[in-house]
Parts: sequence; structure tokens; C-alpha cells
Amino acid sequence: MSENIGNASLLTNRVILVTGAGDGIGRAVAMAFARAGARVILVGRTQSKLEQVYDSIMAEHLVEPVIHPMDLASAVADDYEVLGKSVTEQFGRLDGLLHNAGQLGTFGPLQYTLPENWMKIMQVNVNAAFLLTRALLPALLASADARVLFTSSSVGRKGRAYWGAYAVSKFAVEGMMQVLADELENTSNIKVNSVNPGATRTVMRADAYPAENPATLPTAESLVPAYVFLMSSQAADIHGQAINIRELLEKL
Ligand code: NDP
Repeated sequence: MSENIGNASLLTNRVILVTGAGDGIGRAVAMAFARAGARVILVGRTQSKLEQVYDSIMAEHLVEPVIHPMDLASAVADDYEVLGKSVTEQFGRLDGLLHNAGQLGTFGPLQYTLPENWMKIMQVNVNAAFLLTRALLPALLASADARVLFTSSSVGRKGRAYWGAYAVSKFAVEGMMQVLADELENTSNIKVNSVNPGATRTVMRADAYPAENPATLPTAESLVPAYVFLMSSQAADIHGQAINIRELLEKL
């Protein structure tokens, strides 16, 4: 699709917020965005992990990132508004928003899923993405060429027994992507899509498949060219799509 994906300047001057930036796919992608020239706003619940990502970015003499610790399970609408206002005040715009943070929750039949566990997964995986998008839309609309990426999963595209709230939350994420993409079609410069990273060597995957050998799985780092491409001006004609990261990587 492009010969410039490795180009270190693909995201120069872009301001991009990544949730769940302290670990797993979010950490690898946040590093890649910084290496491609972006100023990255690192959102996550464990401050020490965000600080490690900050230190890694600074150690490579990249654009200084911003840390914004936030527990999406307990944050309320006002917390998102504060973040949205602070992004507008500091940068005047937001060029990219990657909803990556997610929680797996418990497995089992819906009949035996505890209501409080269901609510928590919906809060982190769905409600937080809505509240964050809502609070950041003014900053995204101020960008000349913005991107919003929601993170889905295979079980958010085809239901599977015992995947419970996690699977249902990912279906909701796909729905949010479609509604927002349709709302913004032809009325803004914001492109909205969802991504399914596919099986990836992270803590979440190990929790879901404890018997699996992680060494057999692709690393989070191997996915980053697809995320950089989707956040760049090269993806300006991709909108409203449910993207498989692996398939996209083969085309890049
Ligand atoms: P990890 O569990 O490795 O990382 C998730 C990140 O999200 C962590 O940084 C975590 O913070 C953060 N996070 C979790 N809960 C909260 C919260 N309440 N508030 C703020 N931050 C939070 O997951 P992956 O990297 O594997 O997954 C990333 C995304 O990709 C998820 O949306 C997942 O559903 C999706 N996905 C992953 C697949 C895989 O095989 N890995 C396959 C398909 C989809 P902390 O480190 O502090 O806990």
C-alpha cells in the first residue's frame, strides 16, 4: 500500500492520545507513534508504567510525551471533560485517538456472570470509550485530518460462548464506531475505524489462554506499522471500516 510506512516522519506534528499506553499493544504502539514523530498523550491506570514509556521515549530523544494517569473503571464524566479541555488548551487540537485500553473480565455462561463484573467490563471497554470520545471531539474537530480508532476483537465480530461481557462490549465498540463514522461522514475531517489486532503476545492474551505458549504468538511490536499507517495522512480514505490488523499488515 505504501513504501513509506517505516518513515520516521509519518506522524510529525500530530498529537495522538493512546489509552492503555502503559503495557501490551498500547505501549508498543505509543512508542511507534513517538518514533514516527508524534507527540503522544499516554493514558492508563498505572502511573509507573506510563512513566516507563515516557522515559523510553525521552531516552530516544523523541518529542516529549504527556502522561495522564486515569482509571477508566472509576473515572466519571467530569474527569473526561477535564482531559478534553486540557488537550485543547495545551495543543489546540487532537489529531488521533486510539481507544486501546481494555479488560477481559471473567469467562463463563451469561447466566452465571455476576452483574458487578458485567458492569465493570462495560464501563472500561464501552462507556469509557464513549465518554472519552465525547470529551475529545471538540479537539478532534479542530484538527485538519484526525483519526479515531476503536479496538475490537474477533469475539466482537462473531459471538463465542463463555466470552461474556468482553465479547458483548466489543460488539458495542463496533457499533459505536459505525454510529460515529456515519455521523462524521462528509461533515468533518475525522476518519473513524475499528481494529482487531488478532492474537498478540500480551498479558491479556495470556490471561485468556493460559495453556498457550506465548512464544508462538506475534509480538505487539510486530503490529505497529499498521497502527502508524492508520493514524497517518496515508489512511485518509479509510472510514467506517472494521479492520483486521494482520490483513492490513500484509498489504503494507
Ligand atoms: P493488556 O492487558 O496487555 O494491556 C491493556 C492496557 O490497558 C494496559 O496498559 C492496562 O493498564 C490498560 N487498562 C486496563 N484497564 C484499564 C483501566 N481501567 N483504566 C485505564 N487503563 C486500563 O492488553 P492488550 O495489549 O493485549 O490489549 C489491548 C487491546 O487490544 C484491548 O482492547 C484488547 O481487548 C484488544 N485485543 C487484544 C488481543 C490480544 O491477543 N492481546 C486480541 C484482540 C483484541 P495496566 O497495565 O495499568 O493494567
